[in-house]
Amino acid sequence: MNKKQKKMLVRIGIAAILLLALPQVPAEGLARFALYMIPYLTIGYDILLKAAKGIKNRQIFDENFLMAVATVGAIALALYQKNGDYTEAIAVMLFYQIGEWFQSYAVGKSRRNISELMDIRPDYANVEQEGQLEQVDPDEVEIGTVIVVQPGEKVPIDGVVLEGASTLNTSALTGESLPRDIQAGDEIVSGCINMTGVLKVRTTREFGESTVSKILDLVENASSRKSRSENFISRFARVYTPAVCGAALALAVLPPLVRMAGMGLPADWGSWIYRALTFLVISCPCALVISIPLSFFAGIGGAGKAGILVKGSNYLETLSQTGIVVFDKTGTLTQGVFEVNGIHHSELENERLIEYAALAESASSHPISRSLQRAYGKEIDRGRVTDIREISGNGVTAKVDGVEVAAGNDKLMNRLGISCIPCHSAGTIIHMAIDGAYAGHIVISDVVKPHSEEAIRLLKKSGVRKTVMLTGDRKKAADQTAAQLGIDEVYSELLPADKVEQVEKLLAEKRGKEKLAFVGDGINDAPVLGRADIGIAMGAMGSDAAIEAADVVLMDDDPMQIAKAIRISRKCLGIVYQNIVFAIGIKLICLVLGALGIANMWLAIFADVGVMILAVLNAIRALFVKNL
Ligand code: ADP
Ligand code: MG
Repeated sequence: MNKKQKKMLVRIGIAAILLLALPQVPAEGLARFALYMIPYLTIGYDILLKAAKGIKNRQIFDENFLMAVATVGAIALALYQKNGDYTEAIAVMLFYQIGEWFQSYAVGKSRRNISELMDIRPDYANVEQEGQLEQVDPDEVEIGTVIVVQPGEKVPIDGVVLEGASTLNTSALTGESLPRDIQAGDEIVSGCINMTGVLKVRTTREFGESTVSKILDLVENASSRKSRSENFISRFARVYTPAVCGAALALAVLPPLVRMAGMGLPADWGSWIYRALTFLVISCPCALVISIPLSFFAGIGGAGKAGILVKGSNYLETLSQTGIVVFDKTGTLTQGVFEVNGIHHSELENERLIEYAALAESASSHPISRSLQRAYGKEIDRGRVTDIREISGNGVTAKVDGVEVAAGNDKLMNRLGISCIPCHSAGTIIHMAIDGAYAGHIVISDVVKPHSEEAIRLLKKSGVRKTVMLTGDRKKAADQTAAQLGIDEVYSELLPADKVEQVEKLLAEKRGKEKLAFVGDGINDAPVLGRADIGIAMGAMGSDAAIEAADVVLMDDDPMQIAKAIRISRKCLGIVYQNIVFAIGIKLICLVLGALGIANMWLAIFADVGVMILAVLNAIRALFVKNL
């Protein structure tokens, strides 16, 4: 509870006690009025001030205005009728404030929950200076600095392990509690917790560019992207509140006039004004205004807890309508870790060919190039490589020791006008050319991720109509993977631009409200991520560009998370619709009862606060996603 909430609780307590005690005091007339004003102003002064401010700023119609008019009106009515019955006005204010208090407590609680979950912000980095460890602000650590991460500490900045071996707890990032073993040479990302050994890490990014900072930015900015439902609610409130105020005014004025002029009956102003005031109390739209954003907020928080970062509530909404899921192959459905299976038609020694390949690939972040560098196994002397060019979807060319080297697929060879020998093995083929002459090919193969098949099955089960795989890889390798995973459609040998075109064709095939999601690792597919209705990126392995271009980021690269993300979004949207229907439904019933004179102000405020509390509790359910 924060200070403001505590203060409010005290005000609620004082007003409630006075409200119960005052009927025992035998005061009449003005004295009675003055006495009752004490609890009324104690509990309601801020609402009155806000309403006045709203009128001054010409933003009249909000719930503060409704409450102020209703209660001031009730007090005026009691004065006019000389019955001294001020209790109702005070009670309305009191219950309204109780509802507000509850709502701010719930919002605060879920906000705290989310930031606790996201408690990944490191406070310091240990930098070794003259044999001493010094704690410095992570912001001040430059790229390439060697930092020390001790057991129990958070990894503050992304980097490469130089010395030491340990186990990392990545659960704050991925929502998964499986620890990860690391040793010298491994890349580690900030936000993980170092569990066992001391690590010396050379930083590869600045703090502001590191994974933790990116994630925190995402989460902090998520609530600024509004969903259609949220926009609907604000538009609704803008029209609704003036409309009910108008209706209340009509209710107060028209029936008495009709009675007087048309039917010759006494006007009965008092009871019609009372009905109009009751009508105003009932009409307060707080349950909707509060619970819809809260539901989305909780849904995004719940997803974050599961290792799924959703960049805004609009994406949660889109995700819930996903009908087609398009996958990139390498790094998304497969691990992107290629093993060398064979080397064919090479006149060089195998090691020499791999060396040329690894050197030529030294600047690429493509999974293929990383795998070739791993296969080479030795430190790469970048000084030997110049003129590196990477051609997306084709391969690379470079000069190694001054000699032209090309490594890539047959498209690359065609481009260079070098005829290549086709290969009959399954797998991905890296053709090599040295000094303009064909130099054989390296056969490499990738394995599918352990959960890919299950992921496709789960997607089908959660109602996704079609799954598609796009890849720049050979038809043979692509078809084999697709068949193994049970994917509906495969398109292979695509250049990055072809992938965009293919996604556009698929977009044109959508039925009804259905949405298309593209899942990629961001190597060569950032444009497609942007083109799809919703772009989902693999966060741990994926490139920064992908994380930026994507709308949803899966922290642990597990394709099973896609189905989970869809289920989380459906649950959240379900809650949003339940709240809309429930709140508007109860409101309408009460409004009719109020207009007919059946509901009094007590019932009105109970209905209002009750609906709000139920709606808020329902909204908070969106936070719980563990068993989805
Ligand atoms: P995917 O769609 O499977 O992610 P890409 O579009 O990234 O594949 O690449 C398609 C093909 O282009 C690869 O299968 C490979 O043959 C070739 N290629 C791309 N980048 C490289 C590279 N750095 N080195 C060698 N070959 C590459
Ligand atoms: Mg790719």
